[in-house]
Amino acid sequence: MHTKIDRDHLWHPYAPAVNPPPVNGAVSASGTHIRLADGDELIDAISSWWCAAHGHNRPEILAAVRGQSEKLSHVMFAGFTHGPAIALAEELLKKLPPRLNRIFFADSGSVAVECAAKMAIQYQFARGLRKKSRLAALRGGYHGDTIGAMALSDPGGMHTIFSGLLPKHFFADRPKCRFDAEWDDADFSPMRKLLDDHADEIAAVIAEPVFQGANAMNIYHPEYLRQLRRACDEHDVLLIFDEIATGFGRTGKLFAMDHAEVVPDIMCIGKILSGGVLTLAAAIASEHVSDVISEGGRGAFLHGPTFMANPLACAAAAASVRLLDAYDWRNNVLSMERQMRRELAEARDLAGVDDVRVLGAIAVIEVKKIPSSARVMEIVRKHGVWLRPFGRWIYAMPPFITPEDEVKLITDAMKELAHG
Ligand code: PMP
Repeated sequence: MHTKIDRDHLWHPYAPAVNPPPVNGAVSASGTHIRLADGDELIDAISSWWCAAHGHNRPEILAAVRGQSEKLSHVMFAGFTHGPAIALAEELLKKLPPRLNRIFFADSGSVAVECAAKMAIQYQFARGLRKKSRLAALRGGYHGDTIGAMALSDPGGMHTIFSGLLPKHFFADRPKCRFDAEWDDADFSPMRKLLDDHADEIAAVIAEPVFQGANAMNIYHPEYLRQLRRACDEHDVLLIFDEIATGFGRTGKLFAMDHAEVVPDIMCIGKILSGGVLTLAAAIASEHVSDVISEGGRGAFLHGPTFMANPLACAAAAASVRLLDAYDWRNNVLSMERQMRRELAEARDLAGVDDVRVLGAIAVIEVKKIPSSARVMEIVRKHGVWLRPFGRWIYAMPPFITPEDEVKLITDAMKELAHG
């Protein structure tokens, strides 16, 4: 493998191009394992940025892509439709709450978030409420790396450098009440005040339900979402849930919003949607929202990515969504949750550890300081487990098919990383 070309010419995410941190050469992957150019294997404990939840190279997904590639690899979605988009819509409609039934495909999670924000603004515009042109979001939130999505993410988070460029939205303090603690009404006060003060300028509130990912790794109380739904209704504000990281089983329920039994007006999905094979996401609106935007057929939603509803990605996604009925992922995730809780409990007592939290197939050790990237690489290679700590978090989001002995290897590696 030409690692010199990689080192000299390729930019990796969140990394400098000069003196970059070390990378592994991957040559193949299947199930929970990634095989490396030097012959070693790593257990993918973070499902390749949380998407390969059914395991790498699932034959069902690969067969769907292969079959589709022989018929139609791509066609523009303006003026055309095709079987894979329709089949995927049918699968999704079986899984979504009936209220969410108008699906707009996008090519990445960030773009789906942009679409959801645009839908909310267009909805208020179509109602003549032009002052409602901003959104409200949560501190500690993360919604993607494009400019519109960055603007909705924690203003003190990884995107601070671009703050001069970003549209200004409203932010409420992040929810602090833990998932399994007794609900504290004070937790919702900042959002309630924000809506009381500014609802006439706010088109929608966006939130990652129950689990705030890349900017906080925060697992919070579902009651927050019930209060949020009520407050949005009272203030004539739409509610957007970003389920890109949490959707399709990651938190132990099909969608994280199911913990609260709350349905938003618009929802974003991505990542596990296409089973870690091709890039696909969607913004899904309620019929009411899409009807208002459509103004009886006179109003078009103003977005149209080149690769929208790519047939290969849709075929992969339809197969990935069907897989949710083909094995007992709920039980797998629940067993993994119990095991990770049990095995990580002792990490709480380590000197550099501030907190340990687990929900579904998500485990987080919050530390004062993560080890250097060289030390991380040394530990993950020693344990044969791929983990990628960042910020103050050593976390795992394993594929749902990870067996017990591999989960043990993952929690062992996490504990060694927490030691430093
Ligand atoms: N929203 C959430 C909650 C995410 O976790 C992510 C990705 N980590 C995104 C949006 C952005 O998705 P993508 O990387 O596919 O653009």
